[in-house]
Amino acid sequence: SYRCRSAFKLLEINERFKILSPGLTVIDCGAAPGSWTQVATNLTNAHAKREDPVGRVYAVDRLPFYPVEGATILGNMDFTSAKTQEALSEMLRGDKADVVLSDMAPNASGVREMDHDNIMLLAYAVLRFAVRFSKAQGTLVVKVWDGGKAQEFEENLSKFYGSVKVIRPDATRDESSEKFFLARGFKGLKTS
Ligand code: SAM
Repeated sequence: SYRCRSAFKLLEINERFKILSPGLTVIDCGAAPGSWTQVATNLTNAHAKREDPVGRVYAVDRLPFYPVEGATILGNMDFTSAKTQEALSEMLRGDKADVVLSDMAPNASGVREMDHDNIMLLAYAVLRFAVRFSKAQGTLVVKVWDGGKAQEFEENLSKFYGSVKVIRPDATRDESSEKFFLARGFKGLKTS
């Protein structure tokens, strides 16, 4: 069973767009309590229960959280800090991610515009990271709370990814302003 109902959002995104499969390397940002990590380890075969290719899942949160079988857990680590991103980089050992997921959200103040600004800062941190650490053709899923900066973010995603879609999963509560950007076909880093 899943640690929280957020799992159903990722399951639904995967059901519709088939972003996770055995053997993929996934980085799960804002992962606590770990339900997306559970889904990702199952679908990538990171726990190696089947004969399929074995995937790898790295899960980061600024809160501590319990291990998920098959995943590498980086608890108590702020994703936006250089230290955390260096730790991820070292663990990847030159490999890159097929899929970067972010369900990260700041603590909501209730002031809509401020909350929007804060989640967009996290979204941009994820995008910068994904650009550095994704394989060509890689996928990025990022949660935002809708607001004035979402459009420009979508435009920025389009600079780096071949296709960008906006998804509102059925599992998202009706009154929530939450939506997910699904960016696929990372164009790769132009090496100079
Ligand atoms: N996807 C998770 C799951 O399915 O179990 C739920 C994630 S919850 C909606 C959002 C998470 O983002 C929180 O656990 C929060 O601690 C984390 N978060 C917020 N800011 C963060 C940051 N700067 N670095 C790492 N995690 C962060």
